[in-house]
Amino acid sequence: MSDLLIRGAEAVMTGLPGEQARAGAVDLRIRDGVIHEMAAGLIPAADERVIEARGCVVYPGWINTHHHLFQSLLKAVPEGINEPLFGWLGAVPYPRLTRIRDRHLETAAMVGLAELLLSGTSTCADHHYIYYAGLDSEMGDVLFEVADRLGLRFVLCRGGATEKGRHPGYPNNLESERVDDIINDVQRLRERYHQVGPNPMRQVVMAPTTPTFSVNPAVLRELARAARSMGVRLHSHLSETRDYVTYCREVHGMTPVQFCAENEWLGDDVWFAHMVHVADDELPLLLQTGTGIAHCPQSNCRLGSGIARAPEMSRLGIPVSLAVDGAASNEAADMIQEAHLAWMVHRAHGGADAVTAEEVIEWGTRGGARVLGLDGIGTLSVGSAADLAIYDLDQPRYFGAHDVAVAPVCAGGTASLRCLLVNGKPVVENGAIPGLDMEALREQAARATAELH
Ligand SMILES: [Zn+2]
Repeated sequence: MSDLLIRGAEAVMTGLPGEQARAGAVDLRIRDGVIHEMAAGLIPAADERVIEARGCVVYPGWINTHHHLFQSLLKAVPEGINEPLFGWLGAVPYPRLTRIRDRHLETAAMVGLAELLLSGTSTCADHHYIYYAGLDSEMGDVLFEVADRLGLRFVLCRGGATEKGRHPGYPNNLESERVDDIINDVQRLRERYHQVGPNPMRQVVMAPTTPTFSVNPAVLRELARAARSMGVRLHSHLSETRDYVTYCREVHGMTPVQFCAENEWLGDDVWFAHMVHVADDELPLLLQTGTGIAHCPQSNCRLGSGIARAPEMSRLGIPVSLAVDGAASNEAADMIQEAHLAWMVHRAHGGADAVTAEEVIEWGTRGGARVLGLDGIGTLSVGSAADLAIYDLDQPRYFGAHDVAVAPVCAGGTASLRCLLVNGKPVVENGAIPGLDMEALREQAARATAELH
């Protein structure tokens, strides 16, 4: 791996909290995929490749902690465009799940991961839940293969259900798996892909689709124990809508977070997508156990689900990360857009100091690393993996900015990504993904989208 010097950036955001959020106009020296030195005026060494970053700002690569890549071919489906969560699930993904073949998934993953890369995202956790009895495909392997081709870090959250029809409004029409099917497949994926040690590129997570009704409580506990015995983390959806909370209270007699506590599904190895509707008495349980959130404001706005209490959670000390969720309920998979909306939406209700750009950047970088348990990524500091995005402030939207460091997040829109590194290796250069024929991908996506109409 070649050594690199990133020189002349106007500002560097570190992903760290408080006064450490900004490193100023420093150069970054990278050796063996790790940040070796950060200081102003570094002199290029012999044989060191120099990336000129004049007019640019440098961020840690974004860490997207909840996605459904298969949905990248299900954007703006008319039947679901004005539906809330369950109406949308019944109109958009569920009727198509058994029609999605490996070639569709491969194309969808290429589309979703390419968009993430071009927004500066270096790590993606995908919650893949197309699993049912009789499925004759290894879809997790397809996702790992595509991530490998594009060069970003990838965490497969292996979904699935052992029950259908437990929730009368939930449109799951798939034949359920047995609990052993799920555990054995997680075991297989873990042996094949899961890396331990510093800065892994591949990890596997146990992730039944919904804890309160995709499985029964005994199975939920069995899955948690199996995951922990294998050393993999736990993930799922929680409290996305008011209905979700009402169902849990009526059927299980407690709040969703209490239900998770009862069934061994809280801990610093667990994070949940959404948690839009969390009551005051649930917050201490999340804090005490270190359970994290994948905050998905774009999806929550699109489906009219509400707005999570992310700033409050973060200030209490609950781990907060950012995620784009599936592209069918968020027509984009762009972490700059997600961060921009996170910065905006809380201010609408909470006032202009509800959340700062620095906090939002921390959620999307260091916060993501924390919920995924990947200590070596998510921040720009000496010893961290060189996962970083270099944004060129070359568009009129940035001209006139007095504080250029926060300009990409505060201005929103499509960023000019000059370069994205993962482990010091360029995966985006001059705004393009090396080796990817975008026109061919566009045609491939159009064909696959037509097949899934
Ligand atoms: Zn989701």
